Amino acid sequence: MRQTFFIGILIVGVVGGIIYFLWTIGAALYEDWVMGKDVNKIKADQQQRRKERLEESRKRLDNGCEHVFGQTLGGFPLDACRKCGLQRERPAGPCDHVWKPANEPVPCSYCEKCGKRYVSPTIRDDPHSESS
Ligand SMILES: [Zn+2]
Ligand SMILES: [Zn+2]
Repeated sequence: MRQTFFIGILIVGVVGGIIYFLWTIGAALYEDWVMGKDVNKIKADQQQRRKERLEESRKRLDNGCEHVFGQTLGGFPLDACRKCGLQRERPAGPCDHVWKPANEPVPCSYCEKCGKRYVSPTIRDDPHSESS
C-alpha cells in the first residue's frame, strides 16, 4: 500500500514535470510568435508609409513642369527646379517653397508663397544679404 502511494507521488511528479516543461516551451514559442507578428506588422507599416511618401512626392512634383534640378544660376537653391521653382524634396517646415529669382544686385530668390529669401551660401557674406 505504501509502495503504491510512493509510485503515485512519483508519477504525479514526473507528469507534472513534463507538463511544466511543455508549458514553458509553449509559452516561449507563443512569445516568439507574438513578437514575430509585431515585427512583421512594424515592417509592413514602414513599407506602407514609405510607399505613401513616395507617392506623395511624386504627386507633388507632377505639376506639368519638366523639372530641371541642379542647374541653377547663383542665388537660386540648388535643389529647386529652375523652371517652376519647386524644390526636389519637400523642405522641412510649413511652407513648400516655390522659388522665384529676384531682380536684385545680389543674386537671390524669394519664395512666392511665404516670402523667404534665399541667397547662395557663397555670397552670404555680402553685407546686403540677410542670413536666414
Ligand atoms: Zn519644375
Ligand atoms: Zn516658402
